[in-house]
Amino acid sequence: MSQTSISNAPKHARYDVVIVGGAMFGSSVAWFLADNPDFDGSILVVEKDPTYEFTSTSHTNSCMRQQFSREINVRVSQFAAEFVKNFRDFMGNDPRVPAVPFHSYGYMYLADNEAFAEVLRESQKVQAACGAATRIMSADEIRRDYPFYQVDDIVAGSHNLVDEGYFDGNTLFDWWKRSAREKGAEYVTNEVVAMTRNAAGAKVESVTLKSGQVIVCGTVVNASGPRAVATSRMAGIEIPVEPRKRYTFIFAAEKPLDRDLPLTIDPSGVHMRTDGTYYLAGCPPDDDPAVDYDDFVQDFSIWEDKVWPAIATRIPQFEAIKLTNSWAGHYAFNTFDQNAILGPHTQVENFIFVNGFSGHGFQQSPAMGRGTAELITYGEYRTLDLTPFNYARIAENRPFIEKAVI
Ligand SMILES: Cc1cc2nc3c(=O)[nH]c(=O)nc-3n(C[C@H](O)[C@H](O)[C@H](O)COP(=O)(O)OP(=O)(O)OC[C@H]3O[C@@H](n4cnc5c(N)ncnc54)[C@H](O)[C@@H]3O)c2cc1C
Repeated sequence: MSQTSISNAPKHARYDVVIVGGAMFGSSVAWFLADNPDFDGSILVVEKDPTYEFTSTSHTNSCMRQQFSREINVRVSQFAAEFVKNFRDFMGNDPRVPAVPFHSYGYMYLADNEAFAEVLRESQKVQAACGAATRIMSADEIRRDYPFYQVDDIVAGSHNLVDEGYFDGNTLFDWWKRSAREKGAEYVTNEVVAMTRNAAGAKVESVTLKSGQVIVCGTVVNASGPRAVATSRMAGIEIPVEPRKRYTFIFAAEKPLDRDLPLTIDPSGVHMRTDGTYYLAGCPPDDDPAVDYDDFVQDFSIWEDKVWPAIATRIPQFEAIKLTNSWAGHYAFNTFDQNAILGPHTQVENFIFVNGFSGHGFQQSPAMGRGTAELITYGEYRTLDLTPFNYARIAENRPFIEKAVI
């Protein structure tokens, strides 16, 4: 076995922290824990598929934005921008660590009615109070700055060019994984198939792996993405998260635009953006059910009937385009309030959620990983107060609605 290969058998029978899932969130939590000098426990990351082929992480569009309706979500993304821009510093000035490509071409939310324009104006106030550079634009201002849009039906736009756009989240993922392992976190290729609670039901005592091994755990972290419900149920817990399909299409334009296309959220529900010399577009299906964990079948009628007509209407120059690539991925969709579910369960106290990111998880991974590591190490959040995302709100039926979900 080479030094860097991953075994399927844990070295020990007990770990302080067992993380179920080793993709973006599992690796973020593992790295922030392993990097914290105040944490001296052992970490096991159990990942069933080291190719990550069917993860949300592999299907992401990898963008970040400040434009959220909740202050805490703005602040979470501001930390993402800080983390990405100072990545090597955060990684201990390791000279092997590269700069993370970050292309800040902004987001542009378009409102075609007064009610949604008002939502944008209210959200802009929240963002501006956090120091974000979002501004509300009239149709004329949008036309002036981006002449390619057809905006005759548009009441207002919300736009920000600072710390919004594409970032190479895979670089974060790769280095978190690599560095966490170098700092002592153990990754195994295996699957958690069951959990055993103590007699009082207040703790998960152990997890059982597909290979049959039983691993005693101090804390268990659910970082299993769209399979979060299946993992929670092993501990007898229900959460309102389900896999929902999201379609991404890459296309080339016969006449490319003369400037970057901000990530534009069209009133039709279709979004599109610059993607190098290509363009990317996506949308939810009109009928948006929970899907099977293994259902990644592409639906080209969505491109033909919904995406292409919407983008060609909004940008007439996109009449002549050619589809070059596409994929279907899964959101871990929080049906309760479309926000993250974080922190401990109310009764099974050593079961920690990092779930339900509903399409904005990539950018949330630095702040949520850091916060979860703080919670495990100190029993409290030390930097950003992430308690609004607590599971308790679900148990108490107190939705914490995020209006800006794409
Ligand atoms: C099409 C699409 C576009 C997106 N665009 C953006 C964007 O622009 N910006 C943004 O911020 N976010 C975006 N997201 C969301 C973001 O990609 C996800 O929130 C993030 O990748 C979730 O990471 P995760 O680690 O929670 O889940 P996953 O990446 O799904 O990882 C879960 C891991 O758990 C493993 N696992 C599950 N069960 C078990 C088990 N029992 N035992 C062992 N291992 C297990 C799986 O194999 C998997 O590796 C997008 C998502 C999609 C699908």
